[in-house]
Order: sequence, then structure tokens, then C-alpha cells
Amino acid sequence: MHPTSSFTPWDNIKQAIKALVPNQEYTTWVAPLECVNVTGNQLLIKAPNILFYQRIHDSYLPLIEKIKTELGLDQYLIQFDTHNPRQDLQADEISEEENPIDPASQEISAKTKKVSAESCLNPNYTFQNFVKGSSNQFAMSTCQAVANKPGQSYNPLFICGSSGLGKTHLLHAVGNEVLRQNPTANVAYITSERFMNEMIYCIRFGKTMEFRQKYRSCDVLLIDDVQFISGGKKATQEEFFHTFNSLYGAKKQIVMTSDVLPQAIPDIEDRLRNRFQWGLIADIQPPDVEHRIAILNKKAEALGIKLESDVAEYIAKHKKKDIRELEGAVLRLRAFSEFDNVPITLNLAQTIFQDFFVAESPKKLSVEDIQKTVADHFKIKISDLKSKKKHSAIAHPRQIAMFLARKLTPASLPELGQKFGGKDHTTVLHNVKKIEAAIVSDLDLRAVVDSLQRNLEHLS
Ligand code: ADP
Ligand code: MG
Repeated sequence: MHPTSSFTPWDNIKQAIKALVPNQEYTTWVAPLECVNVTGNQLLIKAPNILFYQRIHDSYLPLIEKIKTELGLDQYLIQFDTHNPRQDLQADEISEEENPIDPASQEISAKTKKVSAESCLNPNYTFQNFVKGSSNQFAMSTCQAVANKPGQSYNPLFICGSSGLGKTHLLHAVGNEVLRQNPTANVAYITSERFMNEMIYCIRFGKTMEFRQKYRSCDVLLIDDVQFISGGKKATQEEFFHTFNSLYGAKKQIVMTSDVLPQAIPDIEDRLRNRFQWGLIADIQPPDVEHRIAILNKKAEALGIKLESDVAEYIAKHKKKDIRELEGAVLRLRAFSEFDNVPITLNLAQTIFQDFFVAESPKKLSVEDIQKTVADHFKIKISDLKSKKKHSAIAHPRQIAMFLARKLTPASLPELGQKFGGKDHTTVLHNVKKIEAAIVSDLDLRAVVDSLQRNLEHLS
């Protein structure tokens, strides 16, 4: 791979960011990001190290994505490369200069800070900075239990939820809390993708033993985005399986995150899927509006600004699915207000976000959309869903379709009855309740329903 010498779309994006964020922020965080390779539509951006990348990922990614759209560069895929072989195996040699640490984290003791850097943990991702609500309460409590007694409460712990809902944050919080209580604990955080890459690198350079030593000697292994293990080679899954067994056997804590339930991870060996289900599965759902407002306020506070309640409410009512987007919105507000030297008011928020919100305002899902998606998934006809056929190959998808229609559309029970071929509203209610009860314990069914819901949400 050779650094590109010519002007790339990345340079356009950087210029646009420069105009939007305070100068010092730009110089510290954005200027050092160089485009090192362009392959087709893929821009490979080199970040100095993983902590740096995390900062970009958390604070700038939404802005970068918006700018891409504004500049008509949506076709470009931005990939970050943080690969630093020295850091991979000898993190303790990395100097502070190479690991810029956020001012907000300065209260964390120097020792914890250093340990955090060694374990690739973001010191800002703590339980303290995590805003609790009904949608993430269970996941947060189980993570806290695990951090207080690693290896003794829930093992493995599997955190599941859509993108941008705080899985990575919680995973780091476990690591940070374990280290706070026991600074000498051996905590490793890694994404499954990086696990694969590191393994390939180690095999190539004859460091397999070091690789094993590193991961099998952890007290706490935190593996992010484990669903990507499915893209890996058989050898990676094999290594992962043995790492898992070795740690589990030694009663060491394993925490994993994934955007789907273990049942829904494609192409992984059954024995691995099986291991993922051994412990506790805790899921995170999207936050409700009150929770989103609380998160916005917390993020604003961390950036040193205050949001009036009408501003927070305005954003929370429009940005619904992803907490990363909420952060991006606060960052953008601050950038605009500093740039134009104006206070953050509802007026400013409306000016900045109006176009985005209009463009993003979701198309309303119809009962027909749901019927089509469910029928396609189960390879049956829409007319079957509306029929009175009772065998389970038809009745089961029908129940799921009714359940999703009840959940995702405002249609009343009688309306639903009518749309499903003139059924009584009590029949609809009965079917909805049946699925509602079944998904609590039947995780396979839940995986199917979740994945259908996700597909439908992409439609809207
Ligand atoms: P995921 O890994 O599920 O895609 P992340 O953990 O990366 O999501 O979260 C995205 C961003 O939102 C992060 O910057 C994280 O700090 C923030 N975030 C998510 N949930 C919360 C929460 N409950 N309270 C505060 N910040 C949150
Ligand atoms: Mg994540």
C-alpha cells in the first residue's frame, strides 16, 4: 500500500470539516488523518492509533457522513486503518504522545489512564458516563455485575443490540471498571475483526505462541462485534473457539457484543454459536424520547455546553434510532454556534437540522409493507396471510405479521383484522399476544422477529 500523492475526495471532506469545527479540534484530531490508499470507491484513512480512531469514530463520524452527503460523495466508503504492529503486541511501549487523551478524562488517575491505554480502552466510556433508561437498564446492570465480580456472575455475557445503542460503550465500561477496582487485572479489548487480523499477522510472522499467550492469559476478554467472526476463515473461528474454552475453563470473564443474537449470526460453526449462548444474553433496545433527552443533555454537558429544553426536545423527537446520531447533532450544534458566534437556540437548531430532518423523516410503514416482508421471508403468498389456513407454515408467519403490524403501525385491532382478510379483532389480539409471550423465551423466534423488524425499519 502506498500513500496517495494526489488530491482525493478525503481532502474535500477534510476542508469541509475544517470550516465547521474549532481550529484546535481540527488540528488535533482531523488534520493528522491522511488518505493512504484509494481503491475504487474505498478511501483508506490512516489513524495514528486505536484511541485516536475511537475518538474520530465517536465524535466525528456522523459529521463526516453528513458532509459526504452534502458534497455528493456518498459513493465513497471510508475505512480507517489503525493497524500498528508495534501497538498490537507491545502496547506498553506506546508513549503518551502517540495516545492523545481527551481533556474530559483527565480526572482519571494517571495509573488507570496508562492501563486503559494498554488495554485499548476509551477512558470516557465508563458506567458513570452511560445514561441509564428502560431500554438499556438490564444490559447495564449485568455489565456492572460482571465488572464487580469478573468470571463469577454471568459468563459469557453477550450484549446484543442495533448499531449505535451503546454496546461498545458498555464493553469498555466493564474494562474500565475492572481496572479501577483492580489496576493489575489483565483486561483485553478487541474487535472480532481485529482478532482475525492480528491472528493472521501473527501466523505470518511466526508469533502464534505470543498471540495465544496474549489472549489466553486475560482475566477479562472483551470482544466487540462478534458477528463479524462469521466473515472469518475457519482457522480464526477455531482459534477463537480455543481461546474461549481456555478462558472459560479458567473461570475468566468473557464479554461479547453483537448486533444480532447468536442464533442469527450467519456462517459460524455451531459449537461456537453454542458457546455464545452458554451465559447470559442481554439486549439493548432504542431509547425512548425521555431517555434521548437525558442522553443529549449528558453529551452537551461533556462538551461544555448547555441545551435549553426546547432544543433537546426538538432533536430528540427527530433523531430516534441511534445514540451516535444524537452525539453528532450536539457536536454540530456546538460547531455552528462557535463558528457563527451565536447562542444555541431552537431557532439555530431548526436552521441547522431542518433539511436533514425533512429528508430523514421516515416513510410510514404500512401493514402491506409488513405483510410483503413477512411473506417474502417465509416464502409464502400475501394471500395466504389473509387466508383462514390453519397449518403452522401459514399460521405462524401470519401471527408474526400481525405482531409486527401491531408494533410498527398505528393501525387498530379491528383495522388489522380487516387487513388480514376480515378477521375478528380478538383473533388479532390473540395472535399478537401469542408472539409477544413466545419471544421472551424462544430466542430463535426472537432472532427472526428482530431481523424482520430491522429489515422493515430500513424500508422506513
Ligand atoms: P454500538 O457499539 O452499540 O454501535 P456505541 O457504544 O459505539 O454503540 O455508542 C455510540 C455512541 O453513543 C458512543 O459515543 C456512546 O458513548 C454513546 N452512547 C450510547 N449509549 C449511551 C448511553 N446510554 N449514555 C451515554 N452515551 C451513550
Ligand atoms: Mg460498537
